[in-house]
Amino acid sequence: MPTSISSDVLKEQLKKTFGFSQFRGEQEAIIRNTIDGHNSFVLMPTGAGKSLCYQLPAIVMPGTAIVISPLIALMKNQVDQMLAFGINAQFLNSSLSRAEINRVKAEVISGSVKLLYIAPESLNKQENLNFLQQANISFVAIDEAHCISEWGHDFRPEYRKIRNIIESIDAKLPIIALTATATPKVQQDIQKTLNLEDATVFKSSFNRKNLYYEIRSKKDIDKQLIRYIKSHTGKAGIIYCLSRKRVEEVSELLGVNGIKALPYHAGLDPQVRMSNQEAFLNEEVEVMVATIAFGMGIDKPDVRFVIHYDAPKSLEGYYQETGRAGRDGLDGTCILFYTYDDILKLDKFNKDKAVSEKENAKILLSEMVYYANLGVCRRKQLLSYFGEHMAENCGFCDNCMHPTPTYKAEQEVSWVLEAVKQTGEKFDAEHIADVLEGKTNQYTQSYEHENLPIFGVGKTVSWAIPDEDEDEDEDDEDVDGEEQAPRKQKLRKKKKEVNPEDEKSPWISFIKQVLIYDLLT
Ligand code: ADP
Ligand code: ZN
Repeated sequence: MPTSISSDVLKEQLKKTFGFSQFRGEQEAIIRNTIDGHNSFVLMPTGAGKSLCYQLPAIVMPGTAIVISPLIALMKNQVDQMLAFGINAQFLNSSLSRAEINRVKAEVISGSVKLLYIAPESLNKQENLNFLQQANISFVAIDEAHCISEWGHDFRPEYRKIRNIIESIDAKLPIIALTATATPKVQQDIQKTLNLEDATVFKSSFNRKNLYYEIRSKKDIDKQLIRYIKSHTGKAGIIYCLSRKRVEEVSELLGVNGIKALPYHAGLDPQVRMSNQEAFLNEEVEVMVATIAFGMGIDKPDVRFVIHYDAPKSLEGYYQETGRAGRDGLDGTCILFYTYDDILKLDKFNKDKAVSEKENAKILLSEMVYYANLGVCRRKQLLSYFGEHMAENCGFCDNCMHPTPTYKAEQEVSWVLEAVKQTGEKFDAEHIADVLEGKTNQYTQSYEHENLPIFGVGKTVSWAIPDEDEDEDEDDEDVDGEEQAPRKQKLRKKKKEVNPEDEKSPWISFIKQVLIYDLLT
């Protein structure tokens, strides 16, 4: 194994193969660590240049590097790219025919392949294991290493077997694990499961200074969405939705409003999916409406906005998805449309999961809720989630640029919880609102809730609570309206008499908020 490759040789190779004149961040130290035969654990945000950290040592070291990667599309992308650079890279996965598999294997055994991308499922097959034991392997790279952790946003059970397989190929092979997801919990899990406690850890800051983070109320979302996109014509953007159905609906909605958009989700025919993706990459359409199936391994540098139509399941996933904006270093905008109802829906999805999984999902969800509701600098919150402390506010997020007054609602919170208790914990927010306001109806009568001590205590409240259902401002004509503070955070500070004749009580959204916190914590 060459241990004395000089800095000049590495730089020359960087220039020759990739056309770059300088390493970014810690790339060179990481590459050297692998060449020197040590294990590495690389934590870098999306777009920082992780691939090069295993591609370059693979080129300069004798033998073939194994790259374990979770997605076929991602492998194909990278293999095509390497081939275009004149480097022999191949992949082994379920998309290949028997003849193709044999050809790839023969090339690896002959020693001409520098990088062999392989899916964890394929790695698990005995015949592939036998083949790899015969090949001359230089080192093993584990891309998207967070897939190994149940705490991550993209758990793949097959990843759990990787360490044993590597050991049965050759226990002395250097390993480099890479991920853009780095909550301390996931990091620990990865190191433990891969037996990489001794690895040199290379962690760069996860701060994406060029990304603007904003939360908006989901009220009138379609109108807001169309208005935003239309005022950014010619800019590329991704809209993430939770379900395939929603993806189709939103894509159609944008289409009829004259916006060039296409859908992408796992339910589409592979050909359609591929051609939609190509259309987006080649700028034939501006907007990709997608489930989270879209994005991993897609290297489109000039995505200017990432919009979450629905609340994501975790902050990690959210950060990963928003990370696809502004990879070229220019500004990107990340807007999350938020409503409590989405959280309730997501919580319901988790009902059928096993107990431990359900608990995990709940914790991930509650972190999302805090993020969306707190008035603290968004970047501060996101980075602290990744174990990074930021001393100052960022000045480039909605909470920094449009701070909102805060209000302690302890009294109101305790009323809500008390009303829920006194009514036997089985009524919805609308009914609890009626009880608090002292509204008489057939239900309050038949359940005798009018006799409860809590009945009517909330007739008069000091409403300074963010109210989702509040009417929008009348500034619809304002093209730049989207640069303003999210509307849900407009607070009414006046004392207000709750009118028993009001159709919809301001209590309702507040009760929902309190109940979500109670449910999730
Ligand atoms: P990641 O896997 O961390 O998300 P990539 O490996 O896809 O990031 O790299 C992101 C972009 O940065 C790619 O377009 C890549 O070619 C580019 N890049 C990587 N290293 C360098 C470098 N040293 N100099 C210039 N560009 C680089
Ligand atoms: Zn901020």
